Amino acid sequence: MNTATLTIDDFSSKNTPAIVDYLQEKGIKPIFFATGQNVEHYYEEALYAVRKGMIVGNHSYSHPAFSSLSLEECIREIENCESVLDRLYRDGGAERRFRPFRFPYGDKGGENKAALQKYLKEQGFHKVEDTHLSYPWWKENGLDRDIDTFWTFDFAEYNMHLNPDFTKESVWKRMHDDKPENGAALFGKNNRHILLLHAHDETEEILPEYYKLFMEELLKNGVTFDEPAFQSSSIT
Ligand SMILES: [Zn+2]
Repeated sequence: MNTATLTIDDFSSKNTPAIVDYLQEKGIKPIFFATGQNVEHYYEEALYAVRKGMIVGNHSYSHPAFSSLSLEECIREIENCESVLDRLYRDGGAERRFRPFRFPYGDKGGENKAALQKYLKEQGFHKVEDTHLSYPWWKENGLDRDIDTFWTFDFAEYNMHLNPDFTKESVWKRMHDDKPENGAALFGKNNRHILLLHAHDETEEILPEYYKLFMEELLKNGVTFDEPAFQSSSIT
């Protein structure tokens, strides 16, 4: 059986409430990763998600490539997003129990990588459970030791609004690629995944309710969704 934890980046957006409603209807519990900027821009939509009990993690304030920043600038990006998320949960009347973090573009900060990992640990960010991932490359790249949340499969659906040659069929091809260049085959045997999808209104314009189409395909192929879990050692 293939199982997956769904993560959705670049929260929030106009389509956030529709995504939340759909996932709740299907019993799928995602982790959203928010930029502070997007939450400020789509605050009501973000509140909707928090009031529905969604987990919202930190994805920086303005989505820069962390390797192009100084350590101080990286930390400011993280802290500015933290302030926005703390306020969001407060305004939503919800307890902020989990604080996972994902680097924009999965860029772990280049020469500041070790310092950023240390910072995230000291600040009490939560590591998403990954001990069930058995891909050799996960360990070879040290992803099992990092506290930020990487992924094992990227739908890459955001390319649909960047490149006219990248279509719904391209996403389908990725989903059914049994030897992908990066990551792991989605429908392999007993594969476990951390999936990466995005909350992008631009994608919605090109392919309405794209998230439904992809999730339906997963469900049809027997993927079951894990409830997000966090490694106990990271919970203080
Ligand atoms: Zn992002």
